[in-house]
Amino acid sequence: MTLMKMLQNYVQLMNISPSQIKLQFLIRSQQIYIPKYIRNVLRTPKTHLQTPIQNGSYIHLEFDDMALSKSSKSNMWPILLSIINLDQLVICDAPPKAFVLNVKGHNVYFGCNSCIVEDDSIEHRIVYLKFNSPLRTNVSFRNWDNEDYHKGLSPFEELLIDICNVFVIDYMHNVCLGLMKRLLQFWVKGKKDVRLTDQDQEIVSCDLKHLKTFVLSEFCKLPRSLDSIEFWKATEFCSFLLYSGAIVLKNPLSKLQYSHFMLLHSAIKIFITENTCQLYNTLAK
Ligand SMILES: [Zn+2]
Repeated sequence: MTLMKMLQNYVQLMNISPSQIKLQFLIRSQQIYIPKYIRNVLRTPKTHLQTPIQNGSYIHLEFDDMALSKSSKSNMWPILLSIINLDQLVICDAPPKAFVLNVKGHNVYFGCNSCIVEDDSIEHRIVYLKFNSPLRTNVSFRNWDNEDYHKGLSPFEELLIDICNVFVIDYMHNVCLGLMKRLLQFWVKGKKDVRLTDQDQEIVSCDLKHLKTFVLSEFCKLPRSLDSIEFWKATEFCSFLLYSGAIVLKNPLSKLQYSHFMLLHSAIKIFITENTCQLYNTLAK
């Protein structure tokens, strides 16, 4: 008998009006367990789907910042992370990464998670001017060799893992929503010496719209004009960097700017392509 049929029978048998029925008690009376509150139905699953990938598995855990109130800039970062077998990689955005590693944030001195480069400040901006600073290693992290980087002990130091290899650079936030978005913002509304003229911006937007008809169905978003870059999603910055940017930026950018952009385009293409990331990664660096 289906649950619905059983309920209908019960209501008829007991001769009670539907408004009198407390469904949860009725179902429980039949020894069927249902959660008391709807929040328990929606409870975050304690197990996560593992997708097998080369030499390991991928588990997607998502956590993001939540604004505490509309009028305040304070954000809360719920860290919902429980990893039992840490023979894998942890990918997270810069603020939670700094939090769980108990190190300085990405926008202060010694803020780079990969190397010990000391930042400089130019016009109230943190900049990295040195390119060959020594990389952080598991040993240097645990020895606190770069003391200014650490805020305190991290719970991850209790685990037998290579901390620097386990916490990898997050491509989506660093490259798509970071570097690519920033470059576009400079070209659209930056200072005069880097900003594209209104006419060039118009041409780029027009070219992007024309590319729509050539975009394959595998792409989840069609190119949009530059007016709306504040609303672009990570996937749109990704398509721009890897595909459309190389076409639409060729004329408007100076030769030097365009060749810099193409170096970035090529390096990222090498890094994210399965069969070239190992083979040519030195070239990409
Ligand atoms: Zn670095």
